[in-house]
Amino acid sequence: MLPSETLPFLPFAQPDIGEAEIQAVAQTLRSGWLSTGPKAREFEQAFTNYLGGNGLQSIAVNSATAGLHLALEALGIGPGDEVIVPTLTFTATAEVVRYLGADPVLVDVDPVTLNIDPEAIRAAITPLTKAIMPVHYGGLACRMDAILAIAREHGLKVVEDAAHALPTTWQGQLVGQLASDVTVFSFYANKTITTGEGGMAVTRDPRLAERMRVMRLHGMSRDAFDRFTSKTPAWYYEVVAPGFKYNLTDTAAALGLVQLQRLPQFLERRQHLAARYHAQLAGLPLVLPANAPAGDVHAWHLYVVRLAPGARVGRDEVIQALSNRGIGTSVHYMPLHRHPYWRDRYQLRAEQFPQADAAYQSMLSLPLFTAMTDADQDRVIAALHDILA
Ligand SMILES: *Cc1c(COP(=O)(O)O)cnc(C)c1O
Repeated sequence: MLPSETLPFLPFAQPDIGEAEIQAVAQTLRSGWLSTGPKAREFEQAFTNYLGGNGLQSIAVNSATAGLHLALEALGIGPGDEVIVPTLTFTATAEVVRYLGADPVLVDVDPVTLNIDPEAIRAAITPLTKAIMPVHYGGLACRMDAILAIAREHGLKVVEDAAHALPTTWQGQLVGQLASDVTVFSFYANKTITTGEGGMAVTRDPRLAERMRVMRLHGMSRDAFDRFTSKTPAWYYEVVAPGFKYNLTDTAAALGLVQLQRLPQFLERRQHLAARYHAQLAGLPLVLPANAPAGDVHAWHLYVVRLAPGARVGRDEVIQALSNRGIGTSVHYMPLHRHPYWRDRYQLRAEQFPQADAAYQSMLSLPLFTAMTDADQDRVIAALHDILA
């Protein structure tokens, strides 16, 4: 075997862009329509079809963060409102609540799935609570039956942060088709499909869809493509609200259309890699990530392991030892309650979030991406055996 220093660095994640994507983008560049136009519409339709239609509308945006912001705005979240968010998430989930002058109320996660704990949601509800934002951590669905029941009971809105959850199912239904108000997917470079930067908000409520469409583009009553193609004079539009600039470009949508077609193969590859990690890391002092319940789909956006209590090396040492062997890893996430802004603004202490905090201190995310070979993965597995056994 070659000394590890001579092997190429294995990143934690890497996009899988083929010739078809390059051709699709080149074709769009040659078409003369670069901003939001025919490709963005086609991507929205294809996305709706992928999720199975059923009255769903898809609104393409330039990031999931934008989509989450639009969702809360359309739901009327504003100053004085509280929105329940898991502490174990990316800051975007909570920051969009602040965009609207409302307050995220951080709650702890379930120690097995690392998803938001429905009991913690219940305990956090106050008269100011307006919405819940479950995050399907790593690509495993939250307990949506319990969360939707709590929401119904207390008259709360539900916006799913599905940045990791394409495709994920809960009790046989794709995330995006559940009974929440809005579900938002991310197409950031390392997500399960990518447009470089991009996202999609889906909803079954036509009023929410309409509001998100208008607010996505400056609060204008008509978008540029509509003005270009319809019979009403092209110059005419009305501004009905101070909106945002959140539209997805046609070049990004062209990329997304090809990626969406490849999603079934991407999923298969991720499932294959996750199953290999499961089988070959089983003997080590690691807590392996939870599987989806029987019959459900885990998107395997992330493969997060935790050092078992009593492991003789710490998390930081494992990350360093893997890095020394040319293997990239990451940590998802330092919980929000540990970040200065959230901690100080809301006077948060780690003891309020024992599960997320303990998980954080022992977790690392192993390389998992579709372009990774079994041989690449064997390097990670061998290195972990070497470091931990
Ligand atoms: C990636 C991510 C986001 C943000 O997605 P963008 O498309 O980069 O805005 C939000 N929430 C979670 C949990 C994420 O992982």
